[in-house]
Amino acid sequence: MSLGEHASKALFERARRVTPGGVNSPVRAFGAVGGTPRFIASAQGPYLTDSDGNEYVDLICSWGPMILGHRHPAVVEAVTRALDHGTSFGAPSTGEVELAEEIVDRVAPVEQVRLVSSGTEATMSAIRLARGFTGRGKIVKFAGCYHGHVDALLASAGSGLATFALPDTPGVTGAQASDTIVLPYNDLASVEKVFAEIGDEIAAVITEAAPGNMGAVPPLPGFNAGLKEITARHGALFISDEVMTGFRASRAGWYGRDGVAPDLLTFGKVMGGGFPAAAFGGRADVMAHLAPAGPVYQAGTLSGNPVATAAGLATLRHSTPEVYARLDEVSGTLGREVSAALTKEGVAHRVQYSGTMFSVFFTEDEVIDFEDVRATESHRYTPFFHELLRQGVYLPPSPFEAWFISAAHDDRAVTRVVEALPKAAAAAAAAARP
Ligand SMILES: *Cc1c(COP(=O)(O)O)cnc(C)c1O
Repeated sequence: MSLGEHASKALFERARRVTPGGVNSPVRAFGAVGGTPRFIASAQGPYLTDSDGNEYVDLICSWGPMILGHRHPAVVEAVTRALDHGTSFGAPSTGEVELAEEIVDRVAPVEQVRLVSSGTEATMSAIRLARGFTGRGKIVKFAGCYHGHVDALLASAGSGLATFALPDTPGVTGAQASDTIVLPYNDLASVEKVFAEIGDEIAAVITEAAPGNMGAVPPLPGFNAGLKEITARHGALFISDEVMTGFRASRAGWYGRDGVAPDLLTFGKVMGGGFPAAAFGGRADVMAHLAPAGPVYQAGTLSGNPVATAAGLATLRHSTPEVYARLDEVSGTLGREVSAALTKEGVAHRVQYSGTMFSVFFTEDEVIDFEDVRATESHRYTPFFHELLRQGVYLPPSPFEAWFISAAHDDRAVTRVVEALPKAAAAAAAAARP
C-alpha cells in the first residue's frame, strides 16, 4: 500500500529547522524506532491519512482522547455549534458547569472538580493542593509512572524519558526533585517502609490508576487499596492520576473497575474530546482549599474553554455502555491475535492490559514494575513496528507506550491489523540484538 514518505520527509526537514527535533512532543519524532515520523493530513473514524496519502489503522487515537474515533459526527457538531457562539470569554459559561456535572455524576469520589487545559496542569495543581491542604512537602511517586512534565514529577517517569534514556532531565533542580520520593511500582512494602520513617512529612502519594506510560502494567490486586489505607492512616492524600484511564477504562475510569476511592483524581485526554481540556477533583473538603473558595492559588486563561468543553461533553455523552463494551471486545481480539502471531513465530511475549489499553512486552515473565519493563527484549519492537507501519497500521513509536483503540474500530479496521500481524511477528522473531 505504501505510497512513499516524500511529503513527511520534507515536512520533517522543514520542521527541524524551526522546532527542536521537529516535533512538539518528543515521542512523535520516532526517536525510539527510527525512520521518518508521519505527518498526518487528516483522520476519520479509526483511520489516519498522512501527507503522502497513506492510510493507517490508528492504534494511538491521539494517545487516548479519540475514544469515539476521529471526527465523530456528534463531536464535530457540538464544536461547530460552540464556534458559532464565540471561542473564549474569560468569564464563566454554561458548558463548564455541564462538563463538571458530567464528571461528578460519573465518578463518585469526585465531589467537586476544577477544569484546566492539560493533564500536566491537572497533576501539578493536584500536588499543590495536596501540599496546601496537608501543610506537608513530600510527594511519593512510582518509577515508570508519568504524570506530565511537572518538574517535581520528572523523576523516573516512564515512556518519554525511558525512550530517550534520560535518567533525569536537565532543568529540574535538586531542590525541585528533593521532595519527591520514587518507589518501585506494585511494591506496598516499600510504601509502608517510607511512611514508617517519614509519614508525617508526606503530603500525598500519586500513582497512575492503572499505568499505561511504561506500557500497560496494571496494579496488582490490592495495590491501590493498600495505597489508600496507608495514606489515610498517616494523614496523607491518595492522588489517582486518571489522565489516561479516565472515561476510558470504564464509564467511571479505573475507579469504575476497582472501586477504590482516591482523595483526589486527575483527568485529561478523553474528557477533552481532542481539545485541550483536563481536570482535577475529589473530596469537597480538600477542593474547598482551592482559590477563590480557599487559599491555594490556581488559575487559567483558557480553563473551561467553551469549544473544548463542548467537545469533551459531546465525547462523554456519547461514551455509552456500548462504547465501553466495544473497547473491551476490540482490545481483547487484538491482544489475542497479536499473541497468536508471536507464538507462531516462537517469540516470547506477554500482552498486558490496563483496562482497555494494552501493550506487548517481549518477555516470558509477568511485568509488574519499571525494572521488569527495562529487562524486556524491547529491541524486537522496532522491526515489529516498522513492518506494521509499512502495512498501514500505526502503533505507538515506542516499546514503552500503551496502545489505544476507539469504538470506531470496526471489523474492517480490526481485520486489517490482524492480516498485517504474521509478517510483523516474523520481523520481531528475526530482530537482531542491538
Ligand atoms: C498524558 C498524561 C499526563 C499529561 O497530560 P498532558 O495533557 O500531556 O499534559 C499526565 N498523566 C498521565 C497518566 C498521562 O497519561
